[in-house]
Amino acid sequence: MNLIEADAKTMLRRHGLAVPDGAVLGPHEAIPAWANERPSVLKSQLFTGGRGKAGLVRMCVPGNVAKQLGELRAAMGAMGCPAYVLVEEQVQIEQEFYLAIRIDDVAQRTVILFSTQGGVEVESAGALRTHEVSGGRPVRPDQLVEFFRAAGVQGKTLGALCRFAAVLHDIFIAQDAELLEINPLAVTKSGALVAVDAKATLDGDAIFRHADRCESISWSLRMAGRHPLEVLAERQGLTFVPLDGDIAVLSGGAGNGMMVFDSLADAGYHPANFVDTVGGSDAQRWQQLAELVFEHARQPHVRAIVAYFTLSVTPLRYLVDGLLAVLRKGPPPKPLVIGVVASGAAEGLLNLKNAQAELRAAGLDPVVELPELVQRLKETIPAL
Ligand code: GDP
Ligand code: MN
Repeated sequence: MNLIEADAKTMLRRHGLAVPDGAVLGPHEAIPAWANERPSVLKSQLFTGGRGKAGLVRMCVPGNVAKQLGELRAAMGAMGCPAYVLVEEQVQIEQEFYLAIRIDDVAQRTVILFSTQGGVEVESAGALRTHEVSGGRPVRPDQLVEFFRAAGVQGKTLGALCRFAAVLHDIFIAQDAELLEINPLAVTKSGALVAVDAKATLDGDAIFRHADRCESISWSLRMAGRHPLEVLAERQGLTFVPLDGDIAVLSGGAGNGMMVFDSLADAGYHPANFVDTVGGSDAQRWQQLAELVFEHARQPHVRAIVAYFTLSVTPLRYLVDGLLAVLRKGPPPKPLVIGVVASGAAEGLLNLKNAQAELRAAGLDPVVELPELVQRLKETIPAL
């Protein structure tokens, strides 16, 4: 999940890092009074970088801020960009650093990247220096002194930079980030550091640990135009994709889902949705997944529900508990055919035979093989 600059800066500010004072303006919001009293910057809030070069960052003086905002909104409108604009106090920049933290997949490490030549030309400024840290554990400021000193930073700024980077790394861990990038990290006349720009990519799979993310502008921008059940699924850390077929599909694991899709297609049926959950899902997750599919199946164009599960390691106990919890609330909204198969590992807490008995007691009649399930579907509802 990517954050717009304004949300990324809110996150930095909450953790005590210095960012310029400012406010986000919605599509029709007027300029705050203070921006007519001192130099300000207007910045379009996009998920892409390179705004400086594209004319989407405007330096303003009190006299021209309204005109600049008008121009910026017109330019954004022409590009089809969302209309949020960040207005900030202008920072007097002495020097622009580049500072980022990201996960290096190859090294399987967290890496700090740094250059004393940050700003819009950072790519052409030469190689970034890199420093590996052991992922998941805090970094002390003193552990970074040599790295930043070797990059040419001295004096008061060196200490401030070590502290800034250590806090940024704390944020990286606390927020389950994949990338945090500050460019430019401005050095002011007094040697203080201010994050003039901020970019953040956070691990979407960790969203269940960060419910507050769903309140951000970034979230609302990302979810604009999406199906309500897709949004709900995303909040719960599940995947739901609405499709226009007539058979609702309840499955877990992308491969399993695709296999069901192929079998349905061969028999002339069309899926009404795709769903997925992560391996090792507990009963609550299975329940949430089934509830999403049942809710979707209430629509008139959905004629039946196909549920098929091939559990390799996820405990069968959890799946059955989740399904039973949903059924206790009421019967499936449309005819449901179900198939379950489980490996020995998945049968640890509950074996397949007992699972079948529990599901039968709840009014379902599970089969094992997928072709058998498709046959059941044909007997229940003929293909259109
Ligand atoms: P990006 O091009 O999308 O990365 O947008 P940035 O937020 O990095 O802005 C681009 C450039 O505008 C920066 O590298 C700075 O040189 C300049 N800039 C942005 N905000 C300020 C500010 O408050 N003061 C000054 N002096 N320059 C700024
Ligand atoms: Mn930037």
